[in-house]
Amino acid sequence: MIIYQCRSCRTVLGTFADGESRIEALLETLTPEERDTIIEQVGDNRMVYVLCEHCQDALNRHPELYDLTSPLQ
Ligand SMILES: [Zn+2]
Repeated sequence: MIIYQCRSCRTVLGTFADGESRIEALLETLTPEERDTIIEQVGDNRMVYVLCEHCQDALNRHPELYDLTSPLQ
């Protein structure tokens, strides 16, 4: 399972089956560094940490509240 979760508020944004071509293709476009940063293997699942709309909005308004170099904190 591939689980998209907001890295800020921890809301689960969506889950996808392993091998779903649309998602795999998307993950393929990431650089190795990006993959290391936003993808974490947890048991059988792959967590993909992104920002939900709400947090993206808050980030745009208050970038000082977010440390982009430490997305997992
Ligand atoms: Zn969020």
